Amino acid sequence: MNTALIQEIKEKHVDLVAVTKKHTKEEVDELASLGLHVFGENRVQEFLTKYDPQYSWHIIGHLQTNKVKYIVGKVDRIDSVDSVKLAKEINKQAAKKGIVQEVLAELKVSKTDENKTGYPFEDAEAFLADLQQFDNIKVKGLMCIATNTDDQSVVAGEFDEMKALFDRMKKVYPEMDTLSMGMSHDWRLALEHGATQVRIGTALFE
Ligand SMILES: *Cc1c(COP(=O)(O)O)cnc(C)c1O
Repeated sequence: MNTALIQEIKEKHVDLVAVTKKHTKEEVDELASLGLHVFGENRVQEFLTKYDPQYSWHIIGHLQTNKVKYIVGKVDRIDSVDSVKLAKEINKQAAKKGIVQEVLAELKVSKTDENKTGYPFEDAEAFLADLQQFDNIKVKGLMCIATNTDDQSVVAGEFDEMKALFDRMKKVYPEMDTLSMGMSHDWRLALEHGATQVRIGTALFE
């Protein structure tokens, strides 16, 4: 485990989602012993094999509506809500369990990466307004994956766009407190550009 990195992140006072996809439950426990307690998984099946109620879990990957019923009530957050249809199903399952599910709205801010998931950034305001109709969902903020490029100015530009939107939307929706952006290769840049939460996998295990 990269204890130097864990220490660096702790000193920065940013929320960390430790991404444990493709890693074992034993590795999750080891990270927990180093003081981490929020874990991110991108696949439902894999998440269920590691689920342990003593930790906090986020689903961070693209989620199919037919899998929602397996995770609502187990995960603290779904960080990857990218359609109204998905939100509707989360709302339904949360209502059944009598809970309010916290989520983030995932936005596609990259203009070049074809396969990046997320709701189109240009239409984000309408998307957020639409999500307000669901009583059993609370939208706590925004999430994105920036373009995977060595050109820091492109990535910084995307983070700035997200931050500007986040600041505007917080005034409309005061319960929003999370701007989740930055991964192993770009988290320091994300933090400089306003991230309140970073999601780091690969670098933790180096
Ligand atoms: C895998 C993943 C991460 C972490 O990526 P690393 O490069 O391993 O740090 C963050 N966010 C999402 C949505 C992911 O799927």
